[in-house]
Amino acid sequence: MVNTRWAALGVAAALVTACSVGGTQPTKPLFTQAPAPQTGGPSCLLPDVPTVDDGRGDPYFPKDGGPGYDVTHYKLKLKYDPPTDTLTGTATIEATALERLSELHLDFHGMKISKATVGGTLVTPTRIDDSLTVPLPVPVEKDAKLSVQIDYSGVPQSLDEGNAFGTNGFLHTTEGAFAIGEPHSATTWIPVNDHPRDKALYDFELTVPANLAAITNGVRTSETVAGGLKTSTWKVTSPMATYLATLAIGDYRVTEGTHKGLPVINAVHNSIPATTRVDEDIARNGEVLDFLVEKFGPYPFDALGGIVINDDRISFALETQTRPIYGNGFWGATRSNTDVIAHELAHQWFGDSVSVDTWQHIWLNEGFATYAQWMWAEDEGRVTTQQEFDRRYATETSPIWSVPPGCPGRARIFDSSVYNRGAMTLHMLRDKVGDEKFFTILQTWVKQKKDSNATTPQFIALAEEISGQQLDDFFNAWLFGKSRPRI
Ligand SMILES: [Zn+2]
Repeated sequence: MVNTRWAALGVAAALVTACSVGGTQPTKPLFTQAPAPQTGGPSCLLPDVPTVDDGRGDPYFPKDGGPGYDVTHYKLKLKYDPPTDTLTGTATIEATALERLSELHLDFHGMKISKATVGGTLVTPTRIDDSLTVPLPVPVEKDAKLSVQIDYSGVPQSLDEGNAFGTNGFLHTTEGAFAIGEPHSATTWIPVNDHPRDKALYDFELTVPANLAAITNGVRTSETVAGGLKTSTWKVTSPMATYLATLAIGDYRVTEGTHKGLPVINAVHNSIPATTRVDEDIARNGEVLDFLVEKFGPYPFDALGGIVINDDRISFALETQTRPIYGNGFWGATRSNTDVIAHELAHQWFGDSVSVDTWQHIWLNEGFATYAQWMWAEDEGRVTTQQEFDRRYATETSPIWSVPPGCPGRARIFDSSVYNRGAMTLHMLRDKVGDEKFFTILQTWVKQKKDSNATTPQFIALAEEISGQQLDDFFNAWLFGKSRPRI
């Protein structure tokens, strides 16, 4: 995810930097002050919360997700009627029991459930707030396979998560709808095990009025029109975290093509004038991807694209798997912005393929995507990674020094520190271990952790292993300290 406010500040500051250096490369600034004492340390990383009732145990969001099972596949049949804002869905959830189970706890917000079955047997789910309990007809043992089918309908309700997270989820628009949000979104349109630790494969079948585009994640496998309705099917063939599921239904100009064999679908909302740079920039996503492949290794997925929405409620972009969604605020009337594309596409490796084990490890997503964005801007000849580092380091009073990106706290998972001090950490790691080892660390990380989950201590261990250096003090200062590290 990236926020337009930060993106705008970033560009403004980059322009200032570019003007002030007059084309010369600034040297690393000299700082003479004594090092500030470090506080925090990896002990600020929190253990999982013991499962009290229906949550997965995330220390920041203990009630998210459900315990004791692993969803392997969501099969979603969804029909949306924009004039009435009504979504009708059937979700078939295939799961494996991780322990003996007598019920399944899912997350689901709003909507009316008309029928639920487990293995074909009718059951009666119960709900408390957004927690949906599906009783099993008979208890199952560890490793048993489960198939739960839920029929539902209603007017989807978005989530208002206050200042920290904003408005998320399924949002009705003038002519259609879209779904976006982190850390929560999917529960507003799909019953899910809503935690990134439970990634699964997805099949979507979307039915909408024939005059509208309907786009989601993955590869589109069919599209048919009948009786004024358009039905398309989509396949997500690599495990996907729930918050990365998306949907855009509306009046979009859709461009389809391929990039080195990857099917590409880009969509820009038709209310965005074609005179802006949006279409041109989005069309460059194959080029941006090639740059990132060079840095990180093979692209982890089998589809590519982007969706640009035009909606005042959304001031961010999100790395929805294979097809990021961008708020139009990243562009404006004449501005070009490929940095945001580099950021969201870098997340396909860092965040989507390698997902956080719990939300406290969020810098593994945002620090890395921000650093990728810096590297792209450098490659484009606009501002170097060193300049990005220097101008942030130079601000001794910056609030990023008091928020440790390695354990930012629940309300600060999208704090500027997670992004910028996170990226600075990587820049300093690169400085410390050298380019060759730095990129070996990144490439080994995404290879080892592909399609799974990861923690900060695991990244530190890999960096130490590949570099042959003891890096505890380094990471303690950069990721876990509450003051500006000495360089
Ligand atoms: Zn991001």
